[in-house]
Amino acid sequence: MNPYDFVRIDWSRPPERRRPAWHHRFTDAQGQQLYSGRLEVGVYAETPLFIIDPHSSSLDLRKPALSLQNRQGEYILPGSSLKGMLRCVVESLANGCLTLYAGRYERDKVHYEGKVQEEFRHCHSNAELCIACRLFGMLKEGARGVFLGKVNIGDACAYSDKVYLYDKPIYTLPLMEPKPHHASFYLDESGRYIAGRKYYFHHSRDKELLSENKIILMGADQPIAISAPLTMARSFILLSTLPGWRPTNFRP
Ligand SMILES: [Zn+2]
Repeated sequence: MNPYDFVRIDWSRPPERRRPAWHHRFTDAQGQQLYSGRLEVGVYAETPLFIIDPHSSSLDLRKPALSLQNRQGEYILPGSSLKGMLRCVVESLANGCLTLYAGRYERDKVHYEGKVQEEFRHCHSNAELCIACRLFGMLKEGARGVFLGKVNIGDACAYSDKVYLYDKPIYTLPLMEPKPHHASFYLDESGRYIAGRKYYFHHSRDKELLSENKIILMGADQPIAISAPLTMARSFILLSTLPGWRPTNFRP
C-alpha cells in the first residue's frame, strides 16, 4: 500500500478569491473589525522526527548528520516548516489554491500542466487572493505583486527532558521524489485531473523504524537520494508561539 493518499478536490468549486486587508488596516473591506493576538501551542510528535541541521551534513557520508538545534541548544521544529504544514491543511480544508503543483515532474519527463484547472492554480495577483494566500502570504515568480501573510510562526522548541536520542547513528531509508508517472495513483478515475492534495499517513508507533544498515548511493541519473547516517531526536514535545495570528474571514 502507498504511504500516502489524496484529499479529493471538487473541481466545480474554484477557490474564492478576494482583495486582502492590507497590514495598515484594522478593518476588512466590509468594515468588520479584524483580530490580532498570540497563540501558544503544544505539539507532540507521534513518531520519531529528524530535521537535519544543514551545517552538520558534509560530503563525508560516514559522518553523522545531526538534528537541528537553536542557539540555546534546544532541538527545534523550524517555524517555516510548521507554517508550510499548516498552510497545506488550510488549503485542503478551505479550498485554497494549489501552491505545490508545478505541472512538470520527474526531471521534466512527466507533464501534468493540463491536469489542474486554471482557477485552482497558485494565486498570481495580490489583489485577488484565496484564503490560504490571504492568511499565509503569496510569493510567486512572475506574479503581480506579493503579499506578506497575516501569521508569523516561530520555531517550536523541544522540552529538554522530553528529548530521546538514539545511542548510535542510524541510516535513513533513501528518500524518493514523487513518481507521478504512476497515473493510476496520481490522477483521478477519469484520468483528466490530478487525484487531489497529497498527504502521508503516520507510521505505526509499534513498528520498528525502517532503516538501512549501510550507505546506499542511487544511480547517476537520479537526483541526490542517499541514505546517510544520522542521529535522531525522539518523542518531542514542543511549544510554539504564533504571534500576530489574524484569523480574518476564516470560514471553511
Ligand atoms: Zn492562493
